[in-house]
Amino acid sequence: STYIVIGAGILGASTAYHLAKSGADVTVVDKKHDGQATDAAAGIVCPWLSQRRNKAWYRLANYGAKYYQDLIASLEADGETNTGYKKVGAISIHTDENKLDKMQERAYKRREDAPEIGDISRLLEDKTQREFPFLQNGFQSVHISGAARVNGRALCEALLAGAKKHGAKLIHDEAKLLYKGKKIRGVLTSSATIEADYVIVTAGAWARELFEPIGIDLQVTYQKAQIMHLQLDEEDTGSLPVVMPPNDQYILAFEQGKIVIGATHENDTGFDYRVTAGGVYEVLNKALEIAPGLADGAIDEIRVGFRPFTPGFLPIIGAVPSHSNVFLANGLGASGLTVGPYLGSQLAKLALGQEIELPLEDYSVEDAIQANKYMF
Ligand code: FAD
Repeated sequence: STYIVIGAGILGASTAYHLAKSGADVTVVDKKHDGQATDAAAGIVCPWLSQRRNKAWYRLANYGAKYYQDLIASLEADGETNTGYKKVGAISIHTDENKLDKMQERAYKRREDAPEIGDISRLLEDKTQREFPFLQNGFQSVHISGAARVNGRALCEALLAGAKKHGAKLIHDEAKLLYKGKKIRGVLTSSATIEADYVIVTAGAWARELFEPIGIDLQVTYQKAQIMHLQLDEEDTGSLPVVMPPNDQYILAFEQGKIVIGATHENDTGFDYRVTAGGVYEVLNKALEIAPGLADGAIDEIRVGFRPFTPGFLPIIGAVPSHSNVFLANGLGASGLTVGPYLGSQLAKLALGQEIELPLEDYSVEDAIQANKYMF
């Protein structure tokens, strides 16, 4: 059978990689819109301390974090070693000891089903400072050793390069759905008509407009994020842990002095890719309050991305009810780097007609679709 994947952020890149690796004939069409979420993403892989109570979300995030072990090994076997993935651990910092107690309890409880969390320890102020020397005084922390960070851009490129090695074709263009009557036959690009047996849509924030012409209202929305990269003189930053502060921000360190701080959560912006004064102010203000030691860092770049959301704030995966040869996944929201590689592997299996381990009813595509009866 032949497959087309529309959209190659982390989700589509993973889907294409797994499809191609299984020997399928895959063509990937990706426009790489400005604001691709994967390209801007920070890269925390640490779902276990989240206070979000939704079980379906947690299951997926937990599977996703766990799956990195297999994925990175598989990519390495394909010669793709530049993924930016590293298990550096995380410190969740706070000034309130009660809050830290609760956090630690939650971590122990979750470790019963998720040994990937690794070692859990409580660090007093001096040890917390030693873990991340740029921090403000007064923070203690819960340290968990199993947390990781990943460079979304690098991982996505590695997956696509891996897919190519297994025979996938990559086209850099915008795709439209090609249909005859009710059946989706493939895609149209600006220069070609490409037919395929199956079409897989992993188009993130742009999926809604793709389905519009066939009378399907896929209710995917998105949230704008601005995120900043700092460059420090200090080079030895590659093993610093992820910092999860009490506010809604985070601080990540990569190799050779690169520090990533962010991000904003902006609703109802439309596809506005501008870096704004308010966005930059918020990111810097919140980060420097937590880690004043970063104040001397040079501002290297500011990225903008659109996190795709569904109405239920849960990822969705499955076939399109009215078009059984069309599959989609979406709604990865703020945890798509964690969930995306795994969900892509499942989407590939689904499209190949293989059994998958996820209970699909918990991530139903139908919940996000309003079919327009008057079309067709
Ligand atoms: P995208 O990465 O947006 O990819 C969609 C792709 O589809 C794009 O390349 C687009 O051009 C293409 N496309 C769309 N329509 C068409 C078309 N018609 N034809 C051709 N191509 C098309 N997650 C974490 O787990 N940890 C984090 O620390 C984290 N931090 C983040 C920080 C920021 C600033 C942002 C923005 C996100 C963050 N996320 C994080 C979330 C994560 O990045 C996203 O959930 C994830 O990248 C979404 O992936 P996606 O493949 O669904 O969408």
